Amino acid sequence: MHPLGEFAGTDGPADSVTPDRSDPRPTRLAERGALREYGARVGEARFERPRADAKVNSIMHAFIEHPDSPALASLCEELAEAAPSLEEDVSWPGEQLAWCAEAGVFRWFHTPADGGLGWSEADLCRGYVALGQACLTTAFVITQRVGAARRIAGATTGSAKERLLAPLLRGEIFATVGISHLTTSRQHLQRPVLRAIAEGGGYRLEGMSPWVTGAPKADWLVVGAVTEDGQQILAAVPTDQPGVETPPGVRLVALTASQTGPVHFYNVFVPADDVLAGPADDVMGRGKGASTGGLQTSALAVGLAGAAVGYLEKEAAKRPNLRTPADALRDQWEETHDRLLALASREADAQEKGSLRQEANSLVLRATQAALGAAKGAGYVWSHPAGRWCREALFFLVWSCPQQVTDANLCELAQSHEV
Ligand SMILES: Cc1cc2nc3c(=O)[nH]c(=O)nc-3n(C[C@H](O)[C@H](O)[C@H](O)COP(=O)(O)OP(=O)(O)OC[C@H]3O[C@@H](n4cnc5c(N)ncnc54)[C@H](O)[C@@H]3O)c2cc1C
Repeated sequence: MHPLGEFAGTDGPADSVTPDRSDPRPTRLAERGALREYGARVGEARFERPRADAKVNSIMHAFIEHPDSPALASLCEELAEAAPSLEEDVSWPGEQLAWCAEAGVFRWFHTPADGGLGWSEADLCRGYVALGQACLTTAFVITQRVGAARRIAGATTGSAKERLLAPLLRGEIFATVGISHLTTSRQHLQRPVLRAIAEGGGYRLEGMSPWVTGAPKADWLVVGAVTEDGQQILAAVPTDQPGVETPPGVRLVALTASQTGPVHFYNVFVPADDVLAGPADDVMGRGKGASTGGLQTSALAVGLAGAAVGYLEKEAAKRPNLRTPADALRDQWEETHDRLLALASREADAQEKGSLRQEANSLVLRATQAALGAAKGAGYVWSHPAGRWCREALFFLVWSCPQQVTDANLCELAQSHEV
């Protein structure tokens, strides 16, 4: 019986779901016809029940030198095939991250001097669109891993960069970030949730970091904390240090496999050598790492929207009533995608990035819900990808969202023009 059992369409959505590796992905993601075909194939792959061997197969992944590489398409096909199993088992995407390490994904984000490939911002966005389209959980975990690695690479003090960056790029250790309480989380509270008390050239950390993706799996955390005089520091903290408590991740609307949750710090000493930056007024504004509402967060939303639009187009090929919404959403997807790459190709300001994020949020919510509408009752079955995409799309309403983006999205939902 088809994986969707009686809910599957009469002609079955996934009669041919084995990815064709002899047919590499288009050389430019924005090439309309080829991209449409790729999106439909990713949609197809997502229909398949997880292969029992998806987690145990050791597949050699070719090194991805640039975003046009067929090796990226091939990796994404594997990720898309394995994506349903992450929700089903609520398992950590450890295997997927190992594939990415093997393919050199973690090197995209760093300069050649630091051992990376030095991809441009536009190429990074193209890479994230492809990963987000294939498996949002893996793509999201990578953003947090990359956020930690880039903060370590940009360290202005201490020796963490010399000790941690090379093993991070090789995928030998895992680091993640707990920084949102400096930017978008707990901003209404009088007292900082994570305090840094100066001591002997270093700091003692006391309090908690409310959101840390992959914390139970991490070797190192990059965390932000606030000093007694209101300044901020960033520090690298090993998770096996006494006083660091990483409870299991919480159950989420989607992306539970990312094992996200709070981390508690009970009188944890950070030596000066592990301080990465600060004390400073706005430690997150200095250097590169994980800017809120940045283009790379929008790239993931565009990627997920691409999966939904690809599915809609595939259905529209046999159901003419879906042609109009499928074409309209594809046009909007291309506009947003092209705007993303245009902004990534120059120095865009915070307002432009915020406006793109708002547009990407709107698109991903509408495209995924359109896919669900097209999938009908079958799409409402828990294991159907369209339902998962809808749940995943809700993430963009809350993740790394500057207040003005949240306000604009809420006004759009309220159909109010007074932002
Ligand atoms: C799945 C997931 C993974 C994440 N991963 C990471 C990560 O790895 N690293 C990281 O640094 N961050 C991470 N984040 C954090 C994320 O980027 C945002 O910072 C977070 O979603 C903001 O939500 P919050 O509930 O913390 O916001 P808050 O602003 O703290 O809101 C919490 C509650 O406080 C109340 N409240 C809010 N504002 C006000 C106000 N003005 N007055 C009175 N009450 C108010 C509301 O009741 C609200 O529900 C993650 C978030 C999610 C959901």
